[in-house]
Amino acid sequence: KLYNQVQDLKGSIRVYCRVRPFLPGQISSSTVGCIDDENITIITPAKYGKEGQRTFTFSKVFGPTASQEEVFSDTQPLIRSVLDGYNVCIFAYGQTGSGKTYTMSGAKVVNTQNMGVNYRALSDLFNLAEKRRGTFTYNIAVQMIEIYNEQVRDLLVCDEIRNGTQNGVNVPDANLVSVTSTAGVIELMNIGMRNRAVGATALNDRSSRSHSCLTVHVQGRDLTSGTILRGCMHLVDLAGSERVDKSEATGERLKEAQHINKSLSALGDVIYALAQNHSHVPYRNSKLTQLLQDSLGGQAKTLMFVHISPEMDAIGETISTLKFAERVS
Ligand code: ADP
Ligand code: MG
Repeated sequence: KLYNQVQDLKGSIRVYCRVRPFLPGQISSSTVGCIDDENITIITPAKYGKEGQRTFTFSKVFGPTASQEEVFSDTQPLIRSVLDGYNVCIFAYGQTGSGKTYTMSGAKVVNTQNMGVNYRALSDLFNLAEKRRGTFTYNIAVQMIEIYNEQVRDLLVCDEIRNGTQNGVNVPDANLVSVTSTAGVIELMNIGMRNRAVGATALNDRSSRSHSCLTVHVQGRDLTSGTILRGCMHLVDLAGSERVDKSEATGERLKEAQHINKSLSALGDVIYALAQNHSHVPYRNSKLTQLLQDSLGGQAKTLMFVHISPEMDAIGETISTLKFAERVS
């Protein structure tokens, strides 16, 4: 039954667009015009370049009022396919402040309504594994890493973690920690979040200039046939996609910006090559695509959430985000 759900997914690469609502106290006109299930129209006034409007089409468009639950319900079949042995990558792309972390992790003060894809995905996996208990046994383990300036850092390192093993598939050196409940996962996510590097930018002082990746390894054993299924899911909160003004950025900031730029375009190139069925896929051009190579392409499923901010000030980044997304979808 689940297998059929996976077969029904349109292709192996999907791109969803999500528009964040205006934040409390924000005063601006919106660049977002009409939205329907698959189309979004952006209004560009004359002073921000060419006057007019442009419509972009995606597998799915979520407007500013879409709830976390709605967003997750479209993602759920993909997540469930991990229990059937599929590899899945889910990316959150967009400029700083556009809602990437909100989609993946939830609001800063998390409650049951606003919790994000990561938490919902894990809790769904546990629930489903429990339902299949008579026919399958599952082992679930997680890794959490960060890529900053093309260097990988393990985020699951601290005194609280003593039972970590170092035999993850994709990141062999990062701690792989077994989990048996969503509560256990929340604890680990909190440790990982605390360990994440943060840097100040004009846009968002807690914005991260690194990619963070929560990887969930699932091993299932069919109790009747003894068959082992292995699936893995990467939940990636990407670094902000905004272009840093080269005349203003210097030193460390410029280096960060160059690394981010390089890795996001490498990711775009990989997904583009896969979407176009190219025989050569350029995985080697960034740490991120190298690490995720086994989970991008082939039988694996990819979902990219592209986030946009509705404010007029963001129009330049909004257009470039949507163009990036259009190219890979
Ligand atoms: P990013 O991770 O892309 O830098 P955040 O996820 O931190 O952006 O979002 C920026 C701010 O907007 C945060 O305060 C966040 O809680 C809020 N926000 C983002 N998306 C939504 C949403 N869909 N609904 C309500 N608030 C949101
Ligand atoms: Mg963020």
